[in-house]
Amino acid sequence: MNLQEMYNNAGISKEVFEFCTKTEEGLRERFDEIDSVSEYNQLKVLTAMQKNRVSDVHFAATTGYGYNDLGRDTLEDVYADVFHTESAIVRPQIVCGTHALALALSANLRPGDELISVSGKPYDTLEEVIGIRPSKGSLKEYGVTYKQVELLEDGSFDKNGIKNAISDNTKMIAIQRSKGYLSRKTLSPDEIGDVIAFIKSINKDIIVMVDNCYGEFVCTSEPSDYGADMTVGSLIKNPGGGLAATGGYIAGTKECIDNISYRLTAPGLGKEVGANLGSIQSFYQGLFLAPTVTAGALKGAIFAANIYEALGYKVIPDNKEPRYDIIQAIEFLKPEGLIEFCKGIQAAAPVDSYVTPEPWDMPGYDSQVIMAAGAFVQGSSIELSADGPLKPPYTAYFQGGLTWNHAKYGIMMSLQKLVEAGIVKL
Ligand SMILES: *Cc1c(COP(=O)(O)O)cnc(C)c1O
Repeated sequence: MNLQEMYNNAGISKEVFEFCTKTEEGLRERFDEIDSVSEYNQLKVLTAMQKNRVSDVHFAATTGYGYNDLGRDTLEDVYADVFHTESAIVRPQIVCGTHALALALSANLRPGDELISVSGKPYDTLEEVIGIRPSKGSLKEYGVTYKQVELLEDGSFDKNGIKNAISDNTKMIAIQRSKGYLSRKTLSPDEIGDVIAFIKSINKDIIVMVDNCYGEFVCTSEPSDYGADMTVGSLIKNPGGGLAATGGYIAGTKECIDNISYRLTAPGLGKEVGANLGSIQSFYQGLFLAPTVTAGALKGAIFAANIYEALGYKVIPDNKEPRYDIIQAIEFLKPEGLIEFCKGIQAAAPVDSYVTPEPWDMPGYDSQVIMAAGAFVQGSSIELSADGPLKPPYTAYFQGGLTWNHAKYGIMMSLQKLVEAGIVKL
């Protein structure tokens, strides 16, 4: 069988194959740039591992208290070197990105302190952490006040607004790099760096925390390279490289990270305890693969943007824009389009390819939601996945792909489903 016959055997028609192949041919230059970034980041990770003399002994499982867990301590040194920070905390006990962010906030804020988000509304799950929506255990319950400065019309930071919002009580400023489920643009490390410098010029003691979810290794620099005091993310996104089965990280100043360790474990115990329970080799190996995996996911996002824009759909970011995270949004305008798209992503998965995703009433959402995820790790969104709320403009949020070949096949299959349903004509 030749390649086209292989695709045909895997459910992709000649028309879809040819349309997608033609699109891919136009992306060579873009893909070359992505490969250069991943080459740079591969060296960043490799030299950090070499400098810290990573060795076989670091992969051993520890149990109980986890005293003298060399593998854990060295991995945290490796992360600190990759992110160019004084310190880092990287643990399986950090259960997800929201937990990492909640730790960063609650460990470094005290009653009477003020938190300001300067990138508008934060990610949905943080609303309860902060107390924007009333919630047990929120920062608000502990007497931490909150303000928000919206981004300007063009998606940039509102420096005047930030200056006016900062008060004597302002202890921390939060910045979210990725758009999450909003349609604003994603903020680049350069832009984030510029606003950090601005904030520090007003008061150098303000702690700046950046939610870096989905942004790691997309560029050659990270927010931490621009003076962010804490850079935060999830290991079942980019930096886990698809291998980490759980976990989160925070890279930052020694003081902030120490505070986080006292909140994660207990005052007095800090970073000294926390067994790795056998997770640690996958954290190292996942970090080693992360630049390549992120590059594959990024190619998938750009491929999807080009395919669906050519078919007349609005895509965010568009087919030419620079990328600062791995998320691609596609507006289908009709529920059937979103549903068929998700069916295609599911049908292309290595796991659960035989199930059909259906819209359902998910707790916390005001409309039905459809999700496609055939992942090795539950909920992993560095693996090829898509979801979207069943309400106008019927946007599919699409991300991930552990390999570019799989991301490509998933997008081809999504198009195949849309063609078969008569929604798209090639
Ligand atoms: C994924 C994500 C989070 C945290 O999500 P978890 O599902 O808790 O891991 C926070 N902020 C942004 C921008 C995200 O993309």
